Amino acid sequence: MALVECSVCGSKATIRSSRKISNLSREMYCQCNDPFCGHSFAAILQITKTISKPAKEPNDVQPLPLFELSEPPAGLQRHA
Ligand SMILES: [Zn+2]
Repeated sequence: MALVECSVCGSKATIRSSRKISNLSREMYCQCNDPFCGHSFAAILQITKTISKPAKEPNDVQPLPLFELSEPPAGLQRHA
């Protein structure tokens, strides 16, 4: 299950639903898991770079810039 951080209290928040905005962006509707907060909010997920080149050619989207991965970017958090 995908989680994001609540902007009010910092607890984990669950993505309840989402809608496609474009081939590169999606609006996600989230709810804080802390019952004493319960903040509901919307967030945007946007694909910004290619880390590993895909085997397929893109259909109708501009190619993304290739991420130069010499080391993980600062602040990177790994998710299971
Ligand atoms: Zn919260």
